[in-house]
Amino acid sequence: MLMRTTALLGLAGIVLAGCSSSGTSSTNGMIADGTTVDVVLMETTDIHQNVLSYDYYKLADNPSFGLERTATLIKQARSQYANTLLLDDGDLIQGTALGDYQAVIKPVTCSQTLAVHKVMNYLKYDAGTIGNHEFNYGLPFLSQVTNTNFRLNGVTAPSNCGAPNYPQVLANVSNLADKQPIFTPFSILKRTFSGKAPDGSTVTVPVNVGVIGFTPPTIMDWDKANLSNRVYTDGLVETANKYLPQMRAQGADLVVALSHGGLDPSSYSPTMENGSWHLTKTGIDALMIGHSHDIFPNPGVASSQFNNMTGVDNTKGLVNSIPTVMAGNWGNRLGLIHVTLKFTGGKWVVQKDKSSVETRSTKNADGSYVAADPNVSALVSAEHQGTIDYVKTPIGSTDFRMNTYFALLGDVSAVQIVNMAQQDYVQKYIQTNLPQYQSLPVLSVSAPFKAGRNGASDFTDVQAGSIAINNAADLYLYPNTVQAVKVSGADILNWLETSAKMFNTINPASSAPQDLINNNYQVFNFDVMYGVQYQIDVTKAPGSRIVNATYNGAPINPAQQFIVATNNYRASGGGNFPGIDGTKTIIQSPDANRDVLISYIKAKGTLNRASYGATRSWSFVPVSAAGPVRFKTVANQIAAAALAGITVSKNSDNNDGTWTYLVDLSH
Ligand code: MG
Ligand code: MN
Repeated sequence: MLMRTTALLGLAGIVLAGCSSSGTSSTNGMIADGTTVDVVLMETTDIHQNVLSYDYYKLADNPSFGLERTATLIKQARSQYANTLLLDDGDLIQGTALGDYQAVIKPVTCSQTLAVHKVMNYLKYDAGTIGNHEFNYGLPFLSQVTNTNFRLNGVTAPSNCGAPNYPQVLANVSNLADKQPIFTPFSILKRTFSGKAPDGSTVTVPVNVGVIGFTPPTIMDWDKANLSNRVYTDGLVETANKYLPQMRAQGADLVVALSHGGLDPSSYSPTMENGSWHLTKTGIDALMIGHSHDIFPNPGVASSQFNNMTGVDNTKGLVNSIPTVMAGNWGNRLGLIHVTLKFTGGKWVVQKDKSSVETRSTKNADGSYVAADPNVSALVSAEHQGTIDYVKTPIGSTDFRMNTYFALLGDVSAVQIVNMAQQDYVQKYIQTNLPQYQSLPVLSVSAPFKAGRNGASDFTDVQAGSIAINNAADLYLYPNTVQAVKVSGADILNWLETSAKMFNTINPASSAPQDLINNNYQVFNFDVMYGVQYQIDVTKAPGSRIVNATYNGAPINPAQQFIVATNNYRASGGGNFPGIDGTKTIIQSPDANRDVLISYIKAKGTLNRASYGATRSWSFVPVSAAGPVRFKTVANQIAAAALAGITVSKNSDNNDGTWTYLVDLSH
């Protein structure tokens, strides 16, 4: 423990640094003023249960993701640098069939440890935070698998349950009853690092690294059923302002914020989803971010959302001069923040001009991937096999291929079946439980959740033939539950306008190439509405693109009432659709959308395209563009587009499993 008395601060040159009982320093408790220590903070984020390089939807190996390969990058960095810390930024326990298998199908017992946590313990993480998706399976499950007592009525306090053996920090989610954070808000990691004395000799010195965690306050909307009346969230800045002084008082020499959220430089709100940008003004020394599944810094990439962002240096990895990293998703990158501390006037001072930030890909320059750490698959082989056996359970068959390669151009082959299942469920629910709404039309929305957000492997593709659980999980990615809202025709039009933000505004007079897709809009917010007809005019500005919207052949009456089947995320405000904020929800079903889909396919037996995959509710208003309009999706899929009635041609090969296609919008 460093001593910080006024007397010591007054000494010049050599400062007595160790208490008599400390003994952590090989320099007999002495740290020379001017001693420096280089620390490398390593980040993983948004692992989403991708422990192995295996796609449980396709039942195939896929080397482009998986913590078993990040493990190799971690090993390399540890051999390269003397002083490292390994930190995780959350969204860990949900995201693949392995997550569902261990949470819902065959829930881990207290004596067991989640597969992903086992691997993280093996990799010797130093700390981690909690992402929004950690809350998807409910608080009792999260309490057990993290071995953390949330102090909630009806939730048994876990006793020595299998869990991460590193500190799990989260400062801005608190128990409504006792007003205290449900996790440890921060942790002071007392480390012994190798430093360099002014005389050039190598010295061993103690450094205290404070780690604090944050999650998006919007979890209260997204997981309302799991969280409301039990916990509440605080804003990131208010929370940082509360705890940072405590962290400094407890000796933190370096404060690292693990913020599961992206960068949003718009004005601060305590409920904003991506508030990490504002944390850089609270006195932290380094920032690790995530949630938006992006890469930061991402120099030289023209499409990066961080290129012209206020206060952001997308080359150096600085946000308002604070070193910041975001390491992609699914284990495809390792983030590294290099910081240098200098012992000055009796304390460690972060050398602001000496930091650097990088991310390292598991993909090598030649297109191959770093090898997997063989110890990882051995650790989780039973869970892996159990998941494969589970997802192979047959549920029906299809005589057509259902994919999302062209879902953003109107192909509904993988979306319509979800909408039909949701509509059927809600219609039956209303007949049984809500007869007062029987006269209202029931529409449904669903989005192509897997439409390339995370690269070429991130698309739904169910081949003709038998359908098993893995295919249902491919068709419906998230562990959402069915909800329904009662809305007006005006709400419907606003809903469709919001979805239409998926597209850039196309200038038909321009002869230059134009990209059709707005990469700042998330595919999971591209709701395709079933039960109405509409067109999208991409030559118009966002907000005025929906034309010819009809129900039953007549223009949608803004005053008419409708029921829309959707999920808990959308119904309670996810995606910020105007007026869809939880106040219009009439059904909050406990049933998962995916289970509703599975039941529906089981009931139908065999699916054909004409009945279950060809009812396109929307199309583009024809545009005769002077120049090419570009669209990126998986390579070699011109035939799949043609089957859905969409005409595209190859423009270029992006050499990452995708092609850029040219879209004919003229008819
Ligand atoms: Mg997230
Ligand atoms: Mn995530």
